[in-house]
Amino acid sequence: MSKLYIIGIGPGVKEQMTFRAKEALDECDTIIGYKTYVRLIEDSVQGKEIVSLGMTEEVQRAQKAVAMALEGKTVGLISGGDAGIYGMAGLAFEVLKERGETQLPVEVVPGVSALNAAASLLGAPMNHDFASISLSDLLTDWETIEKRIRAAGEADFIIALYNPKSGKRTWQIEKTREILLQCRPGSTPVGIVKAAYREKQEVIVTDLKNMLAHEIGMLSTVVVGNLSTYVSNGKMITPRGYGKKYTLGPGAGGEDV
Ligand code: SAH
Repeated sequence: MSKLYIIGIGPGVKEQMTFRAKEALDECDTIIGYKTYVRLIEDSVQGKEIVSLGMTEEVQRAQKAVAMALEGKTVGLISGGDAGIYGMAGLAFEVLKERGETQLPVEVVPGVSALNAAASLLGAPMNHDFASISLSDLLTDWETIEKRIRAAGEADFIIALYNPKSGKRTWQIEKTREILLQCRPGSTPVGIVKAAYREKQEVIVTDLKNMLAHEIGMLSTVVVGNLSTYVSNGKMITPRGYGKKYTLGPGAGGEDV
């Protein structure tokens, strides 16, 4: 049956995939995705036609997925994390729009994004208003990115940084830190999570002053706390404000909240 699923497979291991994502994969006869992601879900896609293309072939992947679905196949276009967060969903809809295609059934299946995964491993750093910024200036000009970093910094948003650094893009994270240091003290907690829920997972809790002493790469998500974020027992916590309104210690009657 002609259908296009755009599936967010979560950050890594299949346990972090949603039930619906697994169900959708089962319904597909063709799976299209970036090699690494196809490998992550290998045992869920046995016996299906697999079209796995490289990282820079996003446009071809989306075009191929749409073309194959229109030929009558049930196609799963897969994205790491959530397909609608720096993922394949936008591109797939753009391709459909370009083709003037309005009849093909399309279902976007949400997934656990890197910021959810990173936040869970760090404690509860994003428990208040936050912004997500990708530091990749391949598709967005740096001037725009910088404006967003400054605005989020000044508005005291917790900030999740996607695509913080790659082999070629190395100065962007340094510049980001410099801008944020104009809005927050060096002691502001920073979490660096690499390969969340994958074999090479690493979780580091540091601060704005020292963050660059740690490894940051293509597979890292960086979470910068706001002015209220603190570290307790190795976990990054951003209070929502309950502590100002209620007594949270033992015997205060708040245990069942
Ligand atoms: N659609 C994806 C994001 C793709 S952009 C999502 O929703 O998560 C790629 C960036 O996502 C990487 O540079 C990194 O910053 C982040 N990322 C993806 N998977 C990750 C993981 N398992 N652990 C930590 N960061 C990850």
